[in-house]
Amino acid sequence: LPRQPAAPPLLALDIGGTLIKLVYTASCGGGGAELRFAKFERRRLQECLDFVRAQGLVHRNGSTMGSSKENMALKATGGGAYKYTEDFREKLGVCLDKVDEMDSVVSGANFLLQSIPGAAFTHMNGKRSSVDISPNNLFPYLLVNIGSGVSILKVTGNRKFERVTGTHIGGGTMFGLAKLLTGCKSYDEFLQLSQKGDNFVLDLIVKDICGELVCQKQGLSTSTLASSFGKVITSKKKLTDYRPEDLASTLLSAFTYNIAQISFLVASILRLRRVFFGGSYIRGHKSTMQNISYAIDFWSQSQMQAVFLQHEGYLGALGALMSYGD
Ligand code: ADP
Repeated sequence: LPRQPAAPPLLALDIGGTLIKLVYTASCGGGGAELRFAKFERRRLQECLDFVRAQGLVHRNGSTMGSSKENMALKATGGGAYKYTEDFREKLGVCLDKVDEMDSVVSGANFLLQSIPGAAFTHMNGKRSSVDISPNNLFPYLLVNIGSGVSILKVTGNRKFERVTGTHIGGGTMFGLAKLLTGCKSYDEFLQLSQKGDNFVLDLIVKDICGELVCQKQGLSTSTLASSFGKVITSKKKLTDYRPEDLASTLLSAFTYNIAQISFLVASILRLRRVFFGGSYIRGHKSTMQNISYAIDFWSQSQMQAVFLQHEGYLGALGALMSYGD
């Protein structure tokens, strides 16, 4: 960590389109320091400010002599670091020292990959296996950060990267539609619903179009998705006739497969074989990781690997924390 254990705690924030992520240090047994993580919905900014104050995460600059009596500036990234500057100044008396969002996401990912053993893992066929990362085999890689929107970056070294592309059809789109269609109140409720649902109630699969016999004859996989939500078109059912569980399951698989496919295409163009996924969209959710892994494996004919990260939602905040050492 960039500071000595006896030093006051450090806090960095990533204020995104949906969530405010906090990473901070706390002293722990043995005189060391550990990292702690917290998140708040962006609309609950006040709760976040109260938390920061209650945890004693705002403190004066090292020296209280002379004129340096201001509070130490907090490193912050994400668009909200600009939008909420005044809120932090007025309510906590603290300045936000802005750090570039993509720089932060990349340093956060590189920090996890290079300093935290076991932080990277694959999730195939229900099995989680950790991936050995050595400095010689890490770069280059593709980083897909799935937040409200999706950013796709090619990372070639520490601080060496290019934001290749992105898509506005991301976690915000899915969760927005989920709120409208299923009435779910939280993301975790949405994930739980999806877990109990069956996407084949709404999704059109190859078998529905060709019939099982033809599929078998032509060697087509009967369960391959032909059109997400496609069955709705020919059905007389209204929205209220569908179970929220099935709607949630369909939404999650539609978005997850789509993002995975775009990631595969970008990785193919750039000839990258390893794709790391971050962002709060994943939320440590098994079937999300499972579907991403399956899709990357399927499209790449097992030539590419999807890799996930612990603390995947905190890449930007971790990177901002690292920037105290700059
Ligand atoms: P951003 O920086 O744009 O806020 P995040 O990486 O924090 O992006 O991811 C936000 C996305 O993560 C949401 O669009 C949603 O899909 C998902 N998500 C995970 N947890 C939550 C939550 N508690 N509330 C809302 N969305 C959540």
